[in-house]
Amino acid sequence: MARDTKFVVPFSGVPEIPVLGEERTFPVRRIWCVGRNYAAHAREMGHDPQRELPFFFAKPADAVVTTGGPLNYPPETSDLHHEVELAVAIGRRGLNVDPEAAKSLIYGYAIALDMTRRDIQAEAKKASRPWALAKGFDQSCPISPIQPVSKCGLLSSGAIHLDVNGQVRQHGDLSEMVWSVEECLSVLSRFVELMPGDILLTGTPAGVAAVGPGDKLRASVDEVGELRVQYK
Ligand code: MN
Repeated sequence: MARDTKFVVPFSGVPEIPVLGEERTFPVRRIWCVGRNYAAHAREMGHDPQRELPFFFAKPADAVVTTGGPLNYPPETSDLHHEVELAVAIGRRGLNVDPEAAKSLIYGYAIALDMTRRDIQAEAKKASRPWALAKGFDQSCPISPIQPVSKCGLLSSGAIHLDVNGQVRQHGDLSEMVWSVEECLSVLSRFVELMPGDILLTGTPAGVAAVGPGDKLRASVDEVGELRVQYK
């Protein structure tokens, strides 16, 4: 990002995500996340996975990490969890769109990790406080390059997988989502206008667990690619 003299403090520009087969990058505006969108994960977190409307939380845009690390183990936690998710990159603006119209907003897909300070989240839940610092912290959203929908088509099924140090931790299928990608985008667009540069993380399958220093994570989604991350 070019140096700019119009700001009163140093500004490092917007975060960018590489795009497969493109020299140009995807500029990140906002990161939204869906909670409990796979039934088996809702159950493992102690919830009844009935089809209640999806709910959303946010991460800061600069939580994205595209280098693979090595990442710092974050402060103020001793229970950092991985959540592998399909990320949807938004390419067009949309307000109050129905699920069919939401399809045309999708620029592409990536594989993301919704890294979570589970102990902080548990305290927040207990005290009915926001999840912000459990979910939104430095480097809390490692993400792969974006696969444009023009190359892979719209995705509604395919394996989503994560292993840690070669051991399978999470394995599911995109078809197991309680709410489809398009349904999630439709509901979210009632609350905020979706804009180019927005990212939606669409929830995680069962098997979330702790990550420690030195761990190597490998995540994949069929048709999208692979994400490799290592902790210091
Ligand atoms: Mn998540």
